[in-house]
Amino acid sequence: MNGQDLSTVDPEIADAVAAERDRQNDTLAMIASENHASEAVMEAQGTTLTNKYAEGYPGSRYYAGCENADTVEELAIERAKELWGADHVNVQPHSGSQANLGVYLAVLDPGDKILSLDLTHGGHLSHGHPANFAGQVYEVEQYEVDEETGYVDYEALAAHAEQFDPDMIVSGYSAYPREVDFGRIQAVADDVDALHTADIAHITGLVAAGVHESPVGVADFVTGSTHKTIRAGRGGIIMCDEEYADAVDSAVFPGAQGGPLMHNVAGKAVGFHEALQPEFTEYAEQVVANAKAIADQFQERGLEVVSGGTDTHLVLVDLRPSNPDTTGKTVESALESVGIVLNANTVPGETRSSFNPSGIRAGTPALTTRGFGESECREVADLIADVVDAPEDDATLEQVSERVDELTDAFPVYE
Ligand SMILES: *Cc1c(COP(=O)(O)O)cnc(C)c1O
Repeated sequence: MNGQDLSTVDPEIADAVAAERDRQNDTLAMIASENHASEAVMEAQGTTLTNKYAEGYPGSRYYAGCENADTVEELAIERAKELWGADHVNVQPHSGSQANLGVYLAVLDPGDKILSLDLTHGGHLSHGHPANFAGQVYEVEQYEVDEETGYVDYEALAAHAEQFDPDMIVSGYSAYPREVDFGRIQAVADDVDALHTADIAHITGLVAAGVHESPVGVADFVTGSTHKTIRAGRGGIIMCDEEYADAVDSAVFPGAQGGPLMHNVAGKAVGFHEALQPEFTEYAEQVVANAKAIADQFQERGLEVVSGGTDTHLVLVDLRPSNPDTTGKTVESALESVGIVLNANTVPGETRSSFNPSGIRAGTPALTTRGFGESECREVADLIADVVDAPEDDATLEQVSERVDELTDAFPVYE
């Protein structure tokens, strides 16, 4: 079978893979958690490292033949330490959710208490939603954002912590447009003798580039995904002080996972290397500038931007004030039909279901990767507003679709 390429061995999968490449080139990826990894990252992921069992950690593996796996993992760790300034790094979690599982397993017992942000206010399933293992194993209560301002209600969080007495407070969110005050949350955690996990899954790249306050060295644990604002391929990461290093490492393996996905660890190493280059700071700054341009243009067009703007890579829109009869799903489908791919999202004070919520979430990491600046992003915001106002109007959809084609042709992602 070696020597035969994918299209010969498995034409059905080869076709789907090629179609996905075309889809990414031909549409605007505005799901805030998505990005486009470089060819180099994907090349590292598609290697013989996928064959290798490397249970354990560099220099102390359960299997022979791990010298190259060691090199790859050591480089990934070294680069992550340099990027985020962490004492200890574990690059083995298969995803951001697995990273959170690793931390919980390292320091919590079943039945311990977690205080985290409500999912409909921007939290994440792995912070203790009943559908996730964390919600089933731990006792979870949730804090909220202030529905008026859209900002985390830090005072209510402190009062809630006082009353609930959690073992772990989780910060870091999936649909929160504002800078998080990690220091303030750590102080709340310290006051009630709780540990604090700052889950920076969405903002890993912004934190690495210094365009968002860093929780590293502040929060007890920092977890993240490696495929969102940092373009290091799909995976997860945990950072902590040396005092928790052994507990975290044994919670990830053998606690929660088997052999590491060494091909993905290689992808992480390459993506981290790219993020250490000076251009990455410019990229991260542009991601935020682009999101601000979109928020601004949405407001010009009369849309209600949650919290009145953004400090990050994403903009959350509450459709209820401007378009009370239009749901997030209606807009999501209409936009998808014209090549703009974003997601319907719950908003603070949600009155609809999470399957058909009242908002949309728009992110700029992938648009910025393909070279969009503020002027292109303002135009995209206008196109989105056109569709929000007339999601069933064929003429509008036709016009927007043509313009999306021109923009994607002018800014290709992959050869
Ligand atoms: C995306 C995300 C994760 C992890 O997601 P994975 O798909 O498991 O990588 C964890 N926490 C937050 C806040 C997220 O947004």
